[in-house]
Amino acid sequence: MMKRRAFLAGLLGVGAWPLSPLRAATQTEETRGNPMIEKLERSEAEWKRILTPEQFHVLRQEGTERAWTSPLNDEKREGVFVCAGCGLELFTSEMKYDSGTGWPSFFTTLPGVFGTKRDFKLILPRTEYHCARCGGHHGHVFNDGPPPTGQRWCNNGVALHFVPAEG
Ligand code: FE
Repeated sequence: MMKRRAFLAGLLGVGAWPLSPLRAATQTEETRGNPMIEKLERSEAEWKRILTPEQFHVLRQEGTERAWTSPLNDEKREGVFVCAGCGLELFTSEMKYDSGTGWPSFFTTLPGVFGTKRDFKLILPRTEYHCARCGGHHGHVFNDGPPPTGQRWCNNGVALHFVPAEG
């Protein structure tokens, strides 16, 4: 009886459930940034007023800027990269590297400044990350970065402001 049931399940594809489109479309895994970072909440209308259309599209609608369009690709000065939505410090210039992808890339972040969301909507899962203060979408993190972390934080330049170090 059990054997027969297992056989039927196999025929119906039930055994392959973890790979089924239904599960793929609904499952997400999330991490939170540092809970000590105070949240900044604004209405959609407020964000529209404060941000440029490009910033709004990326930060509030999880958009992606066209590759090679950000002047921050070539930013090599010493300083800090902050969230264009709320000013939270996210990366230092020491964390930046040239990934050759056309987006500003970093091998690590300041601690706790991002939450992540792993989605299974595409065939290859991607991990989205967003500002722990304003929730603004910044980019995706991949595992093909350089040592010592092996991470590539692929950030939309339009979601960042660069603040050069003084002196
Ligand atoms: Fe922010």
